[in-house]
Amino acid sequence: MRDDNCIFCKIANGEIPSATVYEDDDFRAILDLGPASKGHTLILPKNHYKDLCEADETVMAKILPLAAKLGKSMKSQLGASGFNVVQNNGTSAGQTVFHLHVHVIPRYEGGPDMV
Ligand code: 5GP
Ligand code: ZN
Repeated sequence: MRDDNCIFCKIANGEIPSATVYEDDDFRAILDLGPASKGHTLILPKNHYKDLCEADETVMAKILPLAAKLGKSMKSQLGASGFNVVQNNGTSAGQTVFHLHVHVIPRYEGGPDMV
């Protein structure tokens, strides 16, 4: 369940350091290197799936509740007023890293997204 050439496998499993905001047995959530807003987070499964179509059902069942949990903490801890949950599958859909990940992007009412 890992791909030795995949950078997100290495990050998810702690072999490459990252700005980790959450970790459990199945997932690591990290700050995006090229954030769309302050606190832009990526949820990475620790197992390698190229995209959502490859993911097993347990991962699928857990990943959206985790996105909601992180979104809630963006509101309480970062002062975000809302958040986007985005997940790209395939080059034509904008996927650039081929290890399943979910973006959680906090949004800030009436203020700049980046501070
Ligand atoms: P995608 O376009 O595949 O949905 O999103 C890939 C995301 O991963 C992009 O937002 C990009 O900024 C981020 N990214 C790419 N490489 C790295 C990395 O090595 N570390 C982190 N933290 N983010 C990365
Ligand atoms: Zn991977």
